[in-house]
Amino acid sequence: DTERMEKIVSLCKSKGFIFQSGELYGGLNGCWDYGPLGTELKRNVKEFWWRKNVLEREDIVGMDGSILTHQAVLTASGHVGGFSDPMVDCKVCNKRYRADQLDEIPTCEKKAQLPKGEDKSCELTEPKEFNLMFQTKMGASADENDPNAIAYLRPETAQSIFVQYKNVLDSTRLKLPFGIAQIGKAFRNEINPRNFTFRSREFEQMEVEYFCRPEDGLRLTDEWLEKRLEFYSEIGVPREKLHVLDIPDEDRAHYSEKTYDIEYDFPFGQQELEGVAYRGAYDIGKHQEHSGKNLEYFDAETKERFIPHVVEPSAGCDRTILAVICEAYDVEDLTKEGGKKDERTVMRFQPCVAPIKAAILPLLKNKPELVAKAKEVKALLQPHMNIFYDETAAIGRRYRRQDEVGTPFCIAIDFETLGEEGPNGEDFTDTVTVRHRDSMEQERVAISELLPWLLARIV
Ligand code: ATP
Repeated sequence: DTERMEKIVSLCKSKGFIFQSGELYGGLNGCWDYGPLGTELKRNVKEFWWRKNVLEREDIVGMDGSILTHQAVLTASGHVGGFSDPMVDCKVCNKRYRADQLDEIPTCEKKAQLPKGEDKSCELTEPKEFNLMFQTKMGASADENDPNAIAYLRPETAQSIFVQYKNVLDSTRLKLPFGIAQIGKAFRNEINPRNFTFRSREFEQMEVEYFCRPEDGLRLTDEWLEKRLEFYSEIGVPREKLHVLDIPDEDRAHYSEKTYDIEYDFPFGQQELEGVAYRGAYDIGKHQEHSGKNLEYFDAETKERFIPHVVEPSAGCDRTILAVICEAYDVEDLTKEGGKKDERTVMRFQPCVAPIKAAILPLLKNKPELVAKAKEVKALLQPHMNIFYDETAAIGRRYRRQDEVGTPFCIAIDFETLGEEGPNGEDFTDTVTVRHRDSMEQERVAISELLPWLLARIV
């Protein structure tokens, strides 16, 4: 499905969803910028996640940790010593590959010009471990090698939650089980960023660390898996396109008793969207050991003290958005029998994530009464949702433009709105035509009802 993926990437650029970062200067590998529509889509996905995982729950609170991370935090978590992928280099062209993602020996860029029959394959070094963290220096320390000046861009959002869990506990009145949620940037110096935004060097995660009693961990892991699958179907990634992998013992982190990967059928193959892992007492235990501070939970009723266990649903925001985009993309053949070829591109976003909720379209731009009425409707809706006003081109063209960016509702202001009789003598004064993106059906809605009508349909 390379062709489908190419079309999606090209639409993302031409409509302003996603651009390559630094494109003007040849591009910064593994980094992406969200354009006007991509930014709205991303905000909507994050807000929906936050609503489901924080606002609608009494047992989960949010936090927003710093990206620059203390070296000791990542030493305790094991990232400084062990967050690496096996890497091989070609001794001839110097290209670098992830050793565990090579299905065959790649063609060497330098040897590519050799005549037929000659061996053109890369000459690979033995695999060595390559640490994926971005290291940086803090402050104006005179000593280049001062270990205290080293900091890292966080490789995951989780660690800031673990190291603040006690402060959160002490500053709230939470009792087990409870969760701390965070959405934020993470950075990994991936050896081969690829598949559009799927594997980037800078990306966002949406994570909950859910703290519980040891005896509840396995059950809660299964419950979280179900909740997360439900979330994806609510934002337009149906259950049938998702695959749950129950990771076998030998592939799981040693401290995890259970890990599920949720994978999606991307056009480039079935790939991970999210991991739901039961991490036991590992993280808090490690931070207790390294910091020397007591991080136990005290149960006031039973008087027990223990290290809470953790269940972690960890989703990638950019991967989720890529799945939402891939799922929404559709080219529909509307050619009538005997007529000329007619295709429409339509992004079938769920209204809750659609970047533009409604387009306001006066039928004609040179009729001041139509334009004035349309601007009234615009003023009515604008404080409540992202709307788009468009008065150029024929109405049919304008509908199609909105289809391409996934706007679920188009609102046309026509002569009937202003009081002209309908085709069967109806009085449509102060109503508008609402056209539905997917069915292309139209209905009339009173302007006085329009706001609640839309609000009920875009949640
Ligand atoms: P992968 O095996 O694909 O490298 P991972 O198993 O290392 O991913 P985790 O450490 O479990 O990933 O991170 C949780 C989530 O963060 C992933 O499910 C994914 O959605 C997202 N994520 C991880 N790495 C990247 C990346 N390089 N680009 C975009 N998203 C990522």
